[in-house]
Amino acid sequence: MNVKSEMTLMVDSIEPHLRVRNLDFFYGAQQALNKVSVDFMPGKATAIIGPSGCGKSTLLRVLNRVYSLYPGQRAAGEVELDGENILAPSYDLSALRLKVGMVFQAPIPFTMSVYDNLALALNHHEVLSRGELDERVELALRRAALWDEVKDNLRKSALALSGGQQQRLCIARAIAIEPEILLMDEPTSALDPIATTKIEELIDELRTDYTIIIVTHNLHQAARVAQRTVFMYRGELIEQGPTEKIFTAPDKKATHDYVTGRFG
Ligand code: ATP
Repeated sequence: MNVKSEMTLMVDSIEPHLRVRNLDFFYGAQQALNKVSVDFMPGKATAIIGPSGCGKSTLLRVLNRVYSLYPGQRAAGEVELDGENILAPSYDLSALRLKVGMVFQAPIPFTMSVYDNLALALNHHEVLSRGELDERVELALRRAALWDEVKDNLRKSALALSGGQQQRLCIARAIAIEPEILLMDEPTSALDPIATTKIEELIDELRTDYTIIIVTHNLHQAARVAQRTVFMYRGELIEQGPTEKIFTAPDKKATHDYVTGRFG
């Protein structure tokens, strides 16, 4: 076997962490996703890109099933996580909350101390002693690269932190419960360039432990943080693959036009 086919075998033998098949999504009568099939690989950050309204956020809302809280919103197809279809009505939503964390566009810390923001998330899912709680709070803050900045002020209001610190606190809160998948919906769009760089560096560190899926309007950001990129257009998945290929040698003309700034 030559080196190339051995490499192909190695790449192919890595199983997707999350496998989406033939996903349709409806807001009432309006169809927002049409037969979307996509694989999200472990140990990698995947960027979802595409023009406004193409269905990026809708796809994230399906992956954590938040849509099912809204009457009239409906998904059909399969989203397989750890061998189970999370769209099945019998799938345990509280189990899904433990496996899939979410970070939103604007940082939304709870109106309480830095410590309590994390303790609340942890206590919601686990029974921990005071010592264990302290340890887990510290671990999450360290992993979110925030510990050194807040360790002397854990009892201070989270709202007193800067925007970038608040977003890292929200990331700490999401990873405190040790999910498998981290969804991020334009996590730096409300941040300045320095805070953005910190979050991008953090994404690169976290991806070894969490499968990261990030929606971004910023193509440079997709190129910087993501090893894989998915291009969507009008509710359909047009192309997915290694980020470098999507940006430099995409198969589809629409992808080429979008990444070269011809529309969107
Ligand atoms: P953007 O980049 O502007 O955030 P997006 O790619 O994330 O856009 P979505 O927000 O997923 O796009 O929207 C996909 C489609 O679904 C759009 O046509 C949008 O108008 C529609 N849509 C989104 N939310 C709702 C809703 N709550 N009710 C009805 N239609 C919706």
